[in-house]
Amino acid sequence: MRQLTYSDTQRHYMQEALFEADQAGLIGEVPIGAVIVHDGQIIGRGHNLREHANDATLHAEIRAIEEACATLRSWRLEDCEMYVTIEPCLMCSGAIINSRIPVVYYGARDPKAGAVDSLYETLTDDRLNHKVKVYEGLLAKESGERLVSFFKAARQRAKAAKKARRAAQKAATDKTLDSPEKS
Ligand SMILES: [Zn+2]
Repeated sequence: MRQLTYSDTQRHYMQEALFEADQAGLIGEVPIGAVIVHDGQIIGRGHNLREHANDATLHAEIRAIEEACATLRSWRLEDCEMYVTIEPCLMCSGAIINSRIPVVYYGARDPKAGAVDSLYETLTDDRLNHKVKVYEGLLAKESGERLVSFFKAARQRAKAAKKARRAAQKAATDKTLDSPEKS
């Protein structure tokens, strides 16, 4: 559901999720962040840590859910709300359903992996027992821009590395060609 206006409180929580996204970006992880709110308090927060942990499951939402469950000492996050900067993937949508989170706010869509609106509509699928109220577009620009600039920088780094490799190869080849004459 696209909501046109959000309250300051909602924006505040999404800012907290963006803060988490920045923590991921600072260490070279894809900048996605999430927080879980219960009774007006953040009880779980997380950012993507897949590369550092070498763990495919360590998405922001999973980390936040783990922390929230530990805080409440329950796997049921029934009176909670999740704020996440990017549309959740299939795995995270599954975790949201399994932890019974009733409300999710997300920032920008993920056309390549989003499982809430883009590729699938898992959180609002009538066949499932648990349905989630979904609000999209909260601080979408800020959320999306972080991803775009992250991947742009990554592409530039890859390009520079390729260029450096080619230069090194050329230098090595030139040296080999030179050496018979010199010896
Ligand atoms: Zn995910």
